Amino acid sequence: MGKKKVAIIGSGIAGSGIAVLLAHSGEYEVDLYEKNGIIGGRFASYEKQGFRLDVGCHMIANCENGTMGEILKIVERPEAVRWRHLSQDGYVFNYKGTEFLYPSQIDRIGFTEEELGRIMQFYGETLSLTEDQYEAYDKISMLEQIEKYIQDDRARTLFGFLSGLYFVVRDEETPVGEWVRCGKEMMANRTTGYPIGGTGAIPEAYARILEEYGGRIHRATPVRRIVVEGGAARGVELKSGAFRACDIVISNAGLKPTVSSLVGREHYGSEFLRQVDAYEYSFCCGALKVALDEPVIEEREMVLYIGTDDLVALEKEVVEGRIPAAMEYLMVPVISSVDPTACPEGRQLLIAGTGAGAPDCTAPGDRDKWRQAYLNGLESAFPGIGEHILWAAYTSPTDIDHLFGEDGNVIGIGQKIGQVGEDRPPIEDPEIRNLYHCSADSGMHGIGGELAADSALRLYRMLVG
Ligand SMILES: Cc1cc2nc3c(=O)[nH]c(=O)nc-3n(C[C@H](O)[C@H](O)[C@H](O)COP(=O)(O)OP(=O)(O)OC[C@H]3O[C@@H](n4cnc5c(N)ncnc54)[C@H](O)[C@@H]3O)c2cc1C
Repeated sequence: MGKKKVAIIGSGIAGSGIAVLLAHSGEYEVDLYEKNGIIGGRFASYEKQGFRLDVGCHMIANCENGTMGEILKIVERPEAVRWRHLSQDGYVFNYKGTEFLYPSQIDRIGFTEEELGRIMQFYGETLSLTEDQYEAYDKISMLEQIEKYIQDDRARTLFGFLSGLYFVVRDEETPVGEWVRCGKEMMANRTTGYPIGGTGAIPEAYARILEEYGGRIHRATPVRRIVVEGGAARGVELKSGAFRACDIVISNAGLKPTVSSLVGREHYGSEFLRQVDAYEYSFCCGALKVALDEPVIEEREMVLYIGTDDLVALEKEVVEGRIPAAMEYLMVPVISSVDPTACPEGRQLLIAGTGAGAPDCTAPGDRDKWRQAYLNGLESAFPGIGEHILWAAYTSPTDIDHLFGEDGNVIGIGQKIGQVGEDRPPIEDPEIRNLYHCSADSGMHGIGGELAADSALRLYRMLVG
């Protein structure tokens, strides 16, 4: 029997991941269509004045031990990506100027013995949950869980920040089960880190191996629609008008755009459309990429900066689209400390990223104000850093939306209460035969890119076994 023809729409982590898995299986003839000129979607990397920048993503939760690494193992090329792990001392919190290691030095931020005892009890008991308890705890929010032990702004800020860091959703929406599952996995592996060559090195490796197995990549080739006849996907129509017939279509473009734009709502029943419309995305995020004239931040690979006790108020302000004077909560990966190939010798590259207003909150002229708010936040985290900035490039949610869609959100359909476990969007389209969804939207577990790669692995097991 000949190989089955598959058209894959989108080269994000999930799209390029499923493409290489299917090509390697020997059972599929793979065509991968990517609307942009670069491969990798939200994981892509590019050059600017000798510095290598990532479009969005900066740290990988489990590197070779996570789902992205597993794809490389299945295709028998684990060495195709080289990983650098964060060192234990290089990954710190900075809470209003006080640095501490998490969780071992939480006591440094002024909790009393009694408060500390309750925080440790929360932490210990929550992380002791077992797999059979996750589903029940997925109905409880992290905020609710913390408040069973302690009601304190600093504790809420600290753990709320971690909900944002993992899932880019608020603590009152973060399911405890998913938080514990991901947290435990990271603690067991201790391989959080970054790929040498930038996040783009991962989808680029998938793409290289895909081509070695005879797969074809069509860059700058947008798919206009998925052609559906008799309730089944028959192929894809490109923007050029050309039709490409295939046996199955896999969409990495995201559930909502696939249903509403690529397939068309007329092909679906009202109940499924209601479900699709009800899914909510994770928040958006801005990322300031900062080139420094010399290494200013020494011996640090990742700094999580919290400059306020009232994270909730700041988050609310930001999500509603009001621009604060300073972004006083930042994830700051010092990229060139983890991967020195990211910038010219003697310089330093870091990113300051955090939740930002949705694209439609950004009126013309606001972009510079957002950029300045990130610069001000960075200055309060690292006083004097401004004097060393060669340039700072701001990637806004609007940029992410223009490039990759899905309203510019960070992860995909968010891991919020009611949207995890069995409530995740489906991989196999329930109404159109031969159509599959493969993106972070339909990943079951994991953080960011690992959720997307999880979707690719699950689809691979469904199609190849
Ligand atoms: C600012 C930011 C910071 C992040 N930080 C982290 C982090 O630190 N760690 C982490 O693990 N994750 C992080 N993420 C999240 C992570 O990048 C995403 O969850 C993941 O990359 C999503 O992958 P995907 O395959 O689902 O989709 P995407 O990356 O969105 O890929 C979809 C692809 O489909 C293409 N496409 C869409 N429509 C069409 C069409 N009609 N025709 C052809 N092609 C099409 C798009 O161009 C795109 O390439 C971050 C994301 C952002 C934006």
